[in-house]
Amino acid sequence: PTFQSMKLREELLRGVYAYGFEKPSAIQQRSILPIVKGRDVIAQAQSGTGKTATFSIAILEKLDTALRETQVLCLSPTRELAVQIQKVILALGDFMNVQCHACIGGTNLGEDIRKLDYGQHVVSGTPGRVFDMIKRRVLRTRAIKMLVLDEADEMLNKGFKEQIYDVYRYLPPATQEFRSGQTRVLITTDVWARGIDVQQVSLV
Ligand code: AMP
Repeated sequence: PTFQSMKLREELLRGVYAYGFEKPSAIQQRSILPIVKGRDVIAQAQSGTGKTATFSIAILEKLDTALRETQVLCLSPTRELAVQIQKVILALGDFMNVQCHACIGGTNLGEDIRKLDYGQHVVSGTPGRVFDMIKRRVLRTRAIKMLVLDEADEMLNKGFKEQIYDVYRYLPPATQEFRSGQTRVLITTDVWARGIDVQQVSLV
């Protein structure tokens, strides 16, 4: 499939082409539509294969920008990665009026609270700060429909499992999940928000 044949919304397609992408990478060809259709997807592929844009494009396709509530939560193992994801989402969504906030440790709490209060369609963060914001009820979870665990294997290796569980407990039961990583630990782990109808896309 091409980006065109995926029937992405017009303003998203514009953003994708403006970003310089001409055709979807292998992981994108196999994962974007299943995510858009609502399946839980595990994408196993090496870094550099385009996983970030995979879920970013799917997220932007599914977002209701008229509703200024957090609809998608992305968790990453490092602050740098969380910020990088925010940048990709904002760039691909350049024609969409999307609010995407990076919720990471080591930054000013007041600023985080102000941004979240304003309303953010997508929150990309590290598990600790994200859970802190949820506990404070600054990050409201009632409209969340999708959870992304980027480098999920790395997060489990880094000991974030309990914190991910903490976040799960606040998500609506029907939350869809996308997780990416490079190893099979992704499917064998018991950490799941919902985990039904899981499609595995493996390029390794
Ligand atoms: P990632 O694996 O997500 O870290 O992406 C690796 C690099 O590939 C990034 O610089 C992306 O901007 C780039 N990339 C991702 N998807 C595409 C695509 N469909 N066409 C061209 N470059 C891409």
